[in-house]
Amino acid sequence: MADNDEYVPDFDISKPTIARVYDATLGGKDNFAVDREGAAVIAQHVPRIKEASQDNRLGLKKGVEYVARQGIDQFLDIGAGLPTMENTHQVAQRINPDAKVVYVDNDPIVLAHGRALLADNKSTTIVTADLREPESILGDAEVNEMIDFSRPVGLMIVGLMMHFHPSEDPGSWIRTLLDACPSGSYLHITDFADTGWPEQKAMEKSCVEVLGNGWARTPEEIEAHFQGLPLVPPGIEFPARWVGGVENPDVPAVEDLEDYQRIIMMGVGYKE
Ligand code: SAM
Repeated sequence: MADNDEYVPDFDISKPTIARVYDATLGGKDNFAVDREGAAVIAQHVPRIKEASQDNRLGLKKGVEYVARQGIDQFLDIGAGLPTMENTHQVAQRINPDAKVVYVDNDPIVLAHGRALLADNKSTTIVTADLREPESILGDAEVNEMIDFSRPVGLMIVGLMMHFHPSEDPGSWIRTLLDACPSGSYLHITDFADTGWPEQKAMEKSCVEVLGNGWARTPEEIEAHFQGLPLVPPGIEFPARWVGGVENPDVPAVEDLEDYQRIIMMGVGYKE
């Protein structure tokens, strides 16, 4: 879209959106000048923002691979984002070609681009809905066509929780979704980390400046998203250090990580 701003009047291009700014940070083309300006402001505070966004994608990929390898063959990916490299359906369907994926996003631009990408893929679809209204996701006809809630589900809320202030009680939305998923389901989350490193505060400050949201959380606060579900080892970790199912993986020390590798933390929980 970088070259076609004048042809796409249907979207509000006066304000940056989360999906488009994130796309701009990843070097994508599905964004407008206002989003690129927002990404540039973030880059002033977090010079390696592109790698930080890629690190979140690493967290997405690791979690999807782990969950798919446990035999989960249906994924509900909320806050899907604009299509990029290694989307959830590509990662999951590489492990299980029959895996079904439903993408959910509240930004209509994601639907427009997602539909084009998924035109030939009968096992994957995308719907416009809001995590703030979990019942509308659970009641959506397309979601129910693809996801059988009597069988375990891979529920993904990746790169989204940071956009909700704790006062909104996002945990209640997650609880509603988890209640609809049977035992054997997994919950996979990434969030902005707050473990005292300055780059984490820089990320929070610049995101809040550009988007009005983007709050960092302590590992304990991130763990609380899981509503008491046991976490797959190693628990809440930076993506570079998360190896699913391995208690003490042989990975770099936190001190040896690059700045951009300390912005995101991830976890995967299991519903017993
Ligand atoms: N999950 C992808 C990833 O981690 O690479 C994309 C993350 S992107 C930072 C967050 C996405 O969540 C955006 O596409 C945005 O439109 C979407 N989003 C924001 N608020 C939402 C909400 N309340 N309900 C559903 N989607 C939302």
